[in-house]
Amino acid sequence: MRKADLHVDQHQEHLYITISVGEEFKGIDWKAQHDMEFNTECLFCSSENITGYRVEDETGRTGKIAVCPTCEKVNAVYI
Ligand SMILES: [Zn+2]
Repeated sequence: MRKADLHVDQHQEHLYITISVGEEFKGIDWKAQHDMEFNTECLFCSSENITGYRVEDETGRTGKIAVCPTCEKVNAVYI
């Protein structure tokens, strides 16, 4: 049996994925699957559309993120 590896972070709840706003998009590492499009302005550049993806982080937690296709930065993390 595999021991549960919680990779405890003292500042974050375990419910949330470890991906945070402003990080560079790592689609392959995060097993990103397209979720939806948002008509929202990017926080980091002048792009007017961002794309939502379902992702899984290194610790196996899943969540959804919104990424700008232009600068490839994470604009939001949502559940
Ligand atoms: Zn951008």
